Amino acid sequence: GPAVIAAARHGIHRDRLSSGARRTVEGLQQAGYKAYVVGGAVRDLLAGIPPKDFDVATNATPEQVRQCFRRSRIIGRRFQIVHVLMGAETIEVATFRGPHDGNTLTDEHGRVLRDNVFGTHAEDAARRDFTVNALYYDPVAETIVDFHHGVADLEQKTLRMIGEPTQRFREDPVRMLRAVRLAAKLGLTIDPAARRPIRELTPLIENVPPARLFDEMLKLLTSGHALRCVTQLRAEGLHRGLLPLLDVILEQPLGERFVMLALDSTDRRVREGKPISPSFLFATLLWQQTLAHWKRLQSAGERPIPALFVAMDEVLDAQSEKLAITRRIAGDIKEIWGLQPRFEQRSGKRPFALLEHPRFRAAWDFLLLRSESGEIDRELVDWWESFLAADGDDRAQLLQAPR
Ligand code: ATP
Ligand code: MG
Repeated sequence: GPAVIAAARHGIHRDRLSSGARRTVEGLQQAGYKAYVVGGAVRDLLAGIPPKDFDVATNATPEQVRQCFRRSRIIGRRFQIVHVLMGAETIEVATFRGPHDGNTLTDEHGRVLRDNVFGTHAEDAARRDFTVNALYYDPVAETIVDFHHGVADLEQKTLRMIGEPTQRFREDPVRMLRAVRLAAKLGLTIDPAARRPIRELTPLIENVPPARLFDEMLKLLTSGHALRCVTQLRAEGLHRGLLPLLDVILEQPLGERFVMLALDSTDRRVREGKPISPSFLFATLLWQQTLAHWKRLQSAGERPIPALFVAMDEVLDAQSEKLAITRRIAGDIKEIWGLQPRFEQRSGKRPFALLEHPRFRAAWDFLLLRSESGEIDRELVDWWESFLAADGDDRAQLLQAPR
């Protein structure tokens, strides 16, 4: 059976859970079911990181869970989970899942397409990806149920796969990205047995639905460790299926500097608890490619602004085959890019109109990155800084000054 680890050893007090998570588990236990907080939240608490959210696992069926909580609803068709509303919190409650009995539906590479059979507690632990993600915390008993030595692995700073790594990566290639992200987030070393097969399996990323890759990339880029993650993705050869030109970009000194600056500033914002915008991030990651197209079209005789718009569409269309950037985000990216040439129009009413644009702030931050990376002349940024700081008369002078 699993190790049951007492509070004296693991050190997590039940107060560290959100009240919603705790009340959900208590409610289910009072109705006679098994219930635990599971996954990322337990792992993060052990590592001393505040959890983003709390997931609950139980042996109650979705219908039984729903009957325990007045404010709850069943979500999803194939694999149902229950959203339990507790004050402003939503707790996701999932019934223990197990393996399929022989007739698991997979694609030709072994990727599992459906995963919706209820199972035992042990089976639920075994289908999770890494040992540190298969920990179950019972706030009533204040114990951790640990089937796969996850607590010891976390202490030893090892990210270890549950089961045979090659098979687990084939079942779900996104686990390769998760490995990189979680290792960076928690400061863990990927166990050599799991790391070894990655290089050979990277092409499997191409079979993952683009929308899912996008979600995972977004998690990675907004983790607060984007720089480390992207560097590691590249070291493992995993970036190829995601941002096809990242390789090329990072090999040009200008491109590398631009991307590294962008990721570093994003990481700093995340760690300071400031909001970051996915569109800004993807705008930076795809900019070098757009820039190259833009220049090419201009040297072929196209006028600058129409050329930029053609280049933007080419890049975003090509990218959408790999990584489905949502329509809304693509629209925002285009605004940030599309505003760039407008910073060069420094006369008449145009600078005022640009200031009024709802995306001015993002476009301005983007311009700063372009300047810091050495792509554009500092003079343009200096002019705008003076313009932003100036009042009426000084602005008029700036607009007329010869350049
Ligand atoms: P974080 O929330 O910090 O991004 P997490 O580990 O909680 O990390 P989630 O996507 O929230 O990630 O998943 C919750 C749990 O579900 C994981 O801890 C793991 O146990 C399980 N899980 C998630 N994705 C997979 C997967 N691809 N394969 C197997 N188990 C997974
Ligand atoms: Mg989570």
